[in-house]
Amino acid sequence: VADSFLGVTKMAAGRGALSLEQHPGRPPGPGEVALRVAAAGMCGTDLAVYDWAPPIAAVMADHLPVVVGHEFSGTVDAVGPGVDPALEGARVAIESHRPCGACRACRAGKGHVCANLEYVGFSFDGGFAERAVVPVELVRPVPDAIDEVTAAILEPFALAARAADEGAGCAGQAVLITGCGALGIMTALVATARGARSLVLAETDPVRRTLAARLVESDAVVDPAVADVVAAVADATAGEGADVWIDYSGAQSALDAGLAALTNGGEARTLGIYAPRVTLDLTRMVLREISLRPIHGRLLERSWSNAIELLADRRIDLAPVVTAQFDLADFEAAFSAARERDGLKVVLRP
Ligand SMILES: [Zn+2]
Ligand SMILES: [Zn+2]
Repeated sequence: VADSFLGVTKMAAGRGALSLEQHPGRPPGPGEVALRVAAAGMCGTDLAVYDWAPPIAAVMADHLPVVVGHEFSGTVDAVGPGVDPALEGARVAIESHRPCGACRACRAGKGHVCANLEYVGFSFDGGFAERAVVPVELVRPVPDAIDEVTAAILEPFALAARAADEGAGCAGQAVLITGCGALGIMTALVATARGARSLVLAETDPVRRTLAARLVESDAVVDPAVADVVAAVADATAGEGADVWIDYSGAQSALDAGLAALTNGGEARTLGIYAPRVTLDLTRMVLREISLRPIHGRLLERSWSNAIELLADRRIDLAPVVTAQFDLADFEAAFSAARERDGLKVVLRP
């Protein structure tokens, strides 16, 4: 089980510096499992790894070289000491955030915002590889109803499901989503499955708008560069405004439009990566009692069980969200495809 394996490896600091390397492999240690990787999803964070963006450099610099890839599925083929042997042969998806279990947030049941988070594919070897060894607490068994490519994007889907279900949820709500890449579209699919009363989607990329219109039952898909998002929401809600606004865009213009589109007492859920300083009209939020829910990562148990349930019941089909697949050896082409931002999910297959 300690066969050597190929993995896309960040070799050194700086832009690029990625290559497909042969690694010696190792048996799982105490509390670890070894996987044969089935498929791995690529996201904007992987592009930041490629570009060596400062927040990524801060996490990864001390761990190089490291096999990248943090969204993946596979089959357990060996378990280390102390791990339930029943896991051998299990089909699994991988949570990417590893909490310490000891800090204040962890002790309060908020391991997803642990003060000492480690990340698979950043702090230790990840899933753009034929094999991976991971701590067992990151392993989420998946039912047979979920195929291996869908399982590979369960990590972002569970975040999307959390975004839809957080706070007042989406059932019976008038919902606005700004930013419709894979996460925005998956969130829209959950909002529909939960029974949103109305749904308006805003996205600047034309290919993504076409995909959003095809994959999601919505009232409107608008280009915020040329169309009035607030007016589109007013049209969909008889002038009342959105109850819930979810932002993935990270854009100041989306913050302005989203807050203006919300009804009094409405709820903003923010998941974007924003410029270091953005402007929010806090007084207006106070006077209209707009609540703000920043969301980082998945609730480590509940978001996963909700996401797996939505897929296992076939209420949502994620197959159309995967718009390109590449062999591991063609990882450079996969990074280029992801950078084009004109599809949704890019998946690597070892
Ligand atoms: Zn990701
Ligand atoms: Zn912690």
